Amino acid sequence: MTGQAKEKFNRLRKEGYRITPQREQLLAFFQELPEGEHLSAEELHKKLSGKGIKISLATLYRGLKFLVQNGFVRELDFGEYHKHYELSSPGKKQHHHMVCVSCGLTVEFKDKNLHKHADKIAGERGNFLITDYQFKIFGLCQNCRRR
Ligand SMILES: [Zn+2]
Ligand SMILES: [Zn+2]
Repeated sequence: MTGQAKEKFNRLRKEGYRITPQREQLLAFFQELPEGEHLSAEELHKKLSGKGIKISLATLYRGLKFLVQNGFVRELDFGEYHKHYELSSPGKKQHHHMVCVSCGLTVEFKDKNLHKHADKIAGERGNFLITDYQFKIFGLCQNCRRR
């Protein structure tokens, strides 16, 4: 786990959250994933057991919820029947997605102005502490447009 995440985990532990070794393993697993991987809970479950990490699907869902609620991991909805998960890099480093509705191609992008805008809205419209913000573009990719 990276230092920053470890600190945050320790803080949450002091606040009385249940930080199980499995939750730490789960976050460490996300941190090792290559950028651009968006895994469903089922895919995650398969990969974890492939690494010898035993976790039931129910425990995995609860662990994911915990990591999402505390801003470590983000939950992505690409308009499919299941959700995807990836490591969150809050603040300016957060990226966004463009999704092809025909073939499912996902393109990641960053945009500084989106971050500025999200910050402004969160502050002005109710003093929100941002744990994640997502900007999604749905459409047809170049290949699918040609068809
Ligand atoms: Zn992504
Ligand atoms: Zn496409």
